[in-house]
Amino acid sequence: MLKYDINKRILHMDAKLQVIGWLADTYKKDMFMRTITLLAILLLTAALPAAQLEIAEYYGARSAALSLTYDDGFRHQGAEHVKMMKPYGFKGTFFIVVGQTKDNKPPKEWGNRMSWELLREMHKDGHEIANHSWSHAALKKGVPQDTLDKEVNYAFDVFKQKMGFAPYSFAFPGGSRHKEVPGLAEARHPCVRGHVLTYGGNRWTTDKANAWIDESIAQGKWNVAMIHGIKGGWSHFRNPADFDAHLKYAKSKEDLLWVAPMADVHKYLAQKKAATLKGKVKKSGASFECYVNGLDADTYNVPLTVTIKNAKVKKVTAKAGSKKLPTYLRNGLVCVDVPVTGKPLKVEVSFK
Ligand SMILES: [Zn+2]
Repeated sequence: MLKYDINKRILHMDAKLQVIGWLADTYKKDMFMRTITLLAILLLTAALPAAQLEIAEYYGARSAALSLTYDDGFRHQGAEHVKMMKPYGFKGTFFIVVGQTKDNKPPKEWGNRMSWELLREMHKDGHEIANHSWSHAALKKGVPQDTLDKEVNYAFDVFKQKMGFAPYSFAFPGGSRHKEVPGLAEARHPCVRGHVLTYGGNRWTTDKANAWIDESIAQGKWNVAMIHGIKGGWSHFRNPADFDAHLKYAKSKEDLLWVAPMADVHKYLAQKKAATLKGKVKKSGASFECYVNGLDADTYNVPLTVTIKNAKVKKVTAKAGSKKLPTYLRNGLVCVDVPVTGKPLKVEVSFK
């Protein structure tokens, strides 16, 4: 973290970089000058102002992200998993088997999957519902083209019709290694799940999962957990209380860890990449302009967190036109959550 900051400071200061270069040359030439130039380099580096205005790596100026993903649309996930996350305010990503999802909630023919009705309610509540293929067929080498098309694209179409929006994320059913599937899935789903940490099963422990969180925070990473059953089913937790203890731990790290559905994290990162931020920081506040280029504002709607380095500020307010924006102080930074509009948005920040 520190190393990253210092590099950035130097990069931002071309003129001072030249002076440092000259000092470095002198350092090489003259034995006597070494101590003096070394001191000068240290003083100069310390005196460089930090880049004060930035878009945070993750929403809320957190260092890392965690997505809790639940596979196969099992019926108990809609009840138990959602219930377990609720006290912590966490929202998950639910990868459903589209062809096995029924409309309503009749218990008999409905099997052990969640219904479209319930999934729509969960979506309204902020969870992500996503595509996990049409029939959960393993998409291996040799699978015919029309099967691939049905598993990815037909599932996409039916999902869209039933849910009222296109699925943003796709997860391969177990054992899918067909070389065409990633391309097919990516053509219509901006986010395709890659590496995951498997939660549950006999080898999973709370301590191990907590250590994953600590590691992701230290490395600034986005971890994706893959979960199936809680009390029963494939790779379920030995004891649901172990999972609850892990959620509690994740909550205790909320200043550093953003727990959010895959779509939200993926959108944030895409927006950050496409964003332009220009502005000035003064003693009394800041004014800046932020906009995201080339992304559809209806889909890419996760606010971007703009941070201002000023540890002395005790109170802060921000406005875009007459609209008040959410502000808060976190990790020694002044934070402003800026909505993505597609057009340049002028923001005025006042410190108090
Ligand atoms: Zn699955």
